Amino acid sequence: MKVLFKKAILFLIGILIVLGCYSINPNDKLLESNNPETGETFESSFFGKKSITDGPYIFYENDQVKVKWIYRNREVERTIKGDNFNIIKRKFGFEFKKAWIDQNKADSINYIQNFSGVKNLIAISDVHGQYEVFIKLLKEHGIIDKHFNWIFGKGHLVVLGDIMDRGPRVTETFWLIYKLEQQAKQAGGMVHFILGNHELMVLNNDIRYINEKYIESAQRMNTTYSQIYSENSFLGKWLRKKPVVITINDMLFVHAGISTEFINKGFTVKDANSIFIHKIVGKSWDSILKDSTLSFMMDDKGPIWFRGYFIDNRLKESEIDSILHYFDKTRILVGHTSLPNITLLYHGKVFGIDSNIKEGDYGEVLIYENGTFYRGTLLGGRIKF
Ligand code: ZN
Repeated sequence: MKVLFKKAILFLIGILIVLGCYSINPNDKLLESNNPETGETFESSFFGKKSITDGPYIFYENDQVKVKWIYRNREVERTIKGDNFNIIKRKFGFEFKKAWIDQNKADSINYIQNFSGVKNLIAISDVHGQYEVFIKLLKEHGIIDKHFNWIFGKGHLVVLGDIMDRGPRVTETFWLIYKLEQQAKQAGGMVHFILGNHELMVLNNDIRYINEKYIESAQRMNTTYSQIYSENSFLGKWLRKKPVVITINDMLFVHAGISTEFINKGFTVKDANSIFIHKIVGKSWDSILKDSTLSFMMDDKGPIWFRGYFIDNRLKESEIDSILHYFDKTRILVGHTSLPNITLLYHGKVFGIDSNIKEGDYGEVLIYENGTFYRGTLLGGRIKF
């Protein structure tokens, strides 16, 4: 009898353990919405293995448009018939407009990237897949409303590169930036996305830093992560027209920095953008390394890797003056080198914008309003420079 009782108890414990394993994860109800517009989460675990949902990824295949995504570790693929993009709305809560398909193909490239008369501007850098921090900052500082729509009017939002790598929510961040770019245009404002070294790495098939989730995504889609952003993909096509340097009013924006060597070689903003867009982005390392101009652009004195405003052998202030004089600007704004806060260097001539968002727990934006600069904190505070 005693033995039987023991067996019954063990059996019951066994049942409870099994039930525990199968029990519904509190996040499961959110799995349908890997949602760029709500920021809902989407990961759960099943027998300790992470279940991922990722996408949407949109591809131009011959004359067709295909949407692919990962749902609970499995690839799903749909060919879009007519203008039936509702599937994206249904699965991701994200309103994809059919007009974007043709428009993204047709958009011309702006190499000169010179804008003036801008009164309100916000800059953010090195988000690295930390979507929650990104949307919190955008909400707190009046760029988006609670439905993730543009409310910044004629303002300009500058995203200074490195959305990719490290963090787990790169896809959602890109879709939100794309959507805001379209909404801003209609409102008379603008979103500028500038390429960082991590976009270049992924597009050139260097995936050392991608989040493990995206290794899984690529495997499930039977491809490589770089191919997900190929020129036949919607986001890949969009990224391939993006600049590395832009100027707004008296400010020059570049992901990492402009070195003395860069100006000594006589490059202009237009040269740099044109070289990156046509000869570097998505091209093989062999072709880049063979050419001295291309390898210069991709090395540590080039605009996407340079750290000479921050570390040993820092540039002298007179060298910063020469660079500013060369471009006829008064400030350079860069990301790439992580700092605890947005930081002013060289008596206000250089702003370091990378406020370490990559850690996922804090971040800042730089606010420019009618000639005055502020640090915008995560909770919506403003600190005047
Ligand atoms: Zn960087």
